[in-house]
Amino acid sequence: MLDVARIRGQFPILAQTVGGKPLAYLDNAATTQKPQSVLDALARYYAAGNANIHRGVYALSQDATRAYEAARGKVAAFLNAAEPAEIVFTRNATEGINLVAQTFGRRRIGAGDEVVISGMEHHSNIVPWQIVCGEKGARLRVAPFSDTGELLVDELAALLGPRTRLVSIVHMSNSLGTVNPVERVVDLAHRQGIPVLVDGAQAAYHMPVDVQAIGCDFYVVTGHKLYGPTGIGALYGRRALLEAMPPYQGGGDMISSVTFERTTYNEVPHRFEAGTPHIAGAVGLGAALDFITGVGFDAIVAHERRLLDYATRALSAVPGLRLVGTAANKASILSFVLEGVHAHDIGTIVDTEGVAIRTGHHCTQPVMDRLGVPATARASLALYNTTGEIDQLVAALTKVRQLFG
Ligand SMILES: *Cc1c(COP(=O)(O)O)cnc(C)c1O
Repeated sequence: MLDVARIRGQFPILAQTVGGKPLAYLDNAATTQKPQSVLDALARYYAAGNANIHRGVYALSQDATRAYEAARGKVAAFLNAAEPAEIVFTRNATEGINLVAQTFGRRRIGAGDEVVISGMEHHSNIVPWQIVCGEKGARLRVAPFSDTGELLVDELAALLGPRTRLVSIVHMSNSLGTVNPVERVVDLAHRQGIPVLVDGAQAAYHMPVDVQAIGCDFYVVTGHKLYGPTGIGALYGRRALLEAMPPYQGGGDMISSVTFERTTYNEVPHRFEAGTPHIAGAVGLGAALDFITGVGFDAIVAHERRLLDYATRALSAVPGLRLVGTAANKASILSFVLEGVHAHDIGTIVDTEGVAIRTGHHCTQPVMDRLGVPATARASLALYNTTGEIDQLVAALTKVRQLFG
């Protein structure tokens, strides 16, 4: 069992009040808060460990290099990659997808080829493919989902063919909460020799991720949703694929030698990390993964499951409220609409009660179009949330109903 009071004690930001009301932070799908251990790791790094990496011969630089590479090892272990060299540090999940699109994608996708995504992708798993497909004369194909928000796997399978160069699919939808059967998708694609990228930005802090068990070729995560700092993320790629990929950006650290005639590139993963990386961010992300592992996914999954069930019941009882996204396999996200009230009004009014939720399209405009809603309000849960905060949300929604009654 997860000791939620003890966990909350490790997140200084959660103790604050908003306009005299206790903060109920329910916008975790946008970004999560940071435990003290992450704040300490960042401060300690800058106070005592800061130096540039990979080049210095002095002790401080070597320590910084070790700390950065140790963080890579922690990401590899967290995702169960075969080796740390399969982890490329990025700015965020978005950059991980763009990196694959601009290297692997540009080399592999040609005129008449196809890339398959799903209808519930975040904009960051749509636009990079539109850019490459537009440039190459290739076609972006979209596998649909049902009214409840479930991926129609048979329809996805029907889209796969000899022209498919890549499948890129979200593990867990940030607007619907749906957890997609990514192992099945990988299996279907691999039978036809098609590689698969999985967008794990939303999944990775809610459930254990094992990239080898999933069998995917690429997997992206973002540090700021993993209770870590902003500005750091990671791309997992199978070593053989990374080695065959051209560089993404040119500059320092990604080369092994440079003359004006010819440059040879560094080995993976350094080939994809041009310039001075976010060293402190990587160290902070390492501390965040230690924090998650310390709590343990058994406890996290059970706690968030209980909260999701509680919140689903409580919200369903609010008159005029309709949940959007009710897949059988979903996690930690409650999108909803309230009859006669615009989502932005909901968000503004519940804020006056201390409740932080997101309203809008959640960077998934096609999901809103598919479901015929302009926007939703979204409460999203993390390991430090409580049933009391759900009650606070429901009470605030009752106030919304009164104002618009
Ligand atoms: C948050 C999110 C992203 C984008 O993450 P960034 O940190 O903004 O790059 C992509 N996909 C999903 C499913 C997300 O939830």
